[in-house]
Amino acid sequence: MSATLLDGKALAARVRAELTVEATRLVEAGVRPGLAVVLVGDDPASQIYVRSKTAACAQVGIKTFDHRLPATTSDAELLSLVATLNTDPAVDGILIQLPLPAGIDTRCVLFAVDPRKDVDGIHPENVGRLLLGQPRFVACTPFGVMKLIGEAGLTLAGANAVVVGRSNMVGKPMAALLLGADATVTICHSRTRDLAAVVGRADLVVAAVGRAEMIRGDWIKPGAVVIDVGINRTPEGKLLGDVEFAGAAARASAITPVPGGVGPMTIAMLLANTIAAAQARAAQPR
Ligand code: NAP
Repeated sequence: MSATLLDGKALAARVRAELTVEATRLVEAGVRPGLAVVLVGDDPASQIYVRSKTAACAQVGIKTFDHRLPATTSDAELLSLVATLNTDPAVDGILIQLPLPAGIDTRCVLFAVDPRKDVDGIHPENVGRLLLGQPRFVACTPFGVMKLIGEAGLTLAGANAVVVGRSNMVGKPMAALLLGADATVTICHSRTRDLAAVVGRADLVVAAVGRAEMIRGDWIKPGAVVIDVGINRTPEGKLLGDVEFAGAAARASAITPVPGGVGPMTIAMLLANTIAAAQARAAQPR
């Protein structure tokens, strides 16, 4: 392997340490940062994610307000909870853990969250602001990826950046951030022709597909930076990224591991957005 390993775990620990200082400052100013965590149903993966997010909040000094609701919860009940959280002055950020159970109108619920508390950065107002170059809250995964790219020392201005995947949570905001940083951005998806050739021209590849090792190592341009967002579990329980790691690491200048790359940064950026929301509250006249 010749690539530098972009250690998301270590970078996330540094970000968390900085946020702990900020949280302490806020508490001293009389504002305790608060995050409401809403989990509907009993999806085991969601339970694990919520547990790690709650633990990370506690570590930096963010108070969490846990709301566990049964899978039978109606749209109206969930919307009523969101309305209460929107007006609760102790709640700076609202996290609705996805996926919501089938039958709940996810879009309607997410759009009901006050955009000033949308620390996941998925409300249309926040997505629109990102596209207009006036970001408020940016979706946590692409936000974390930008920090990791910063570690790689890649100059984004003028670089060919290829984002594989166009989801609302990852691919699209990722492309908007890279465009905002003056990269020349190509977005690939399931209908893209000759993906290998497109990836092969990239100075930066961000893979967010959800298919284990789909991006082959020999597609990577020598010296490129490779960010692997994918998390795929094999039947044996092993975690694999969307990029064939060994082959890509032999050609790339820098690459993220899976696990320990993008994942820890996603949680760190949720904390960063929550602290930013609390700072906005602290700045309001009281
Ligand atoms: P998603 O909503 O399923 O989107 C996947 C994207 O990949 C779609 O745009 C799809 O294209 C594209 N795609 C599928 N097959 C393809 C192919 N053969 N060639 C090119 N593009 C293809 O997934 P997501 O939510 O963005 O997540 C992607 C991966 O990242 C998953 O493994 C997920 O677990 C992981 N993830 C990790 C983190 C983290 O913190 N590390 C956070 C979020 C997600 P179409 O639009 O044409 O269908």
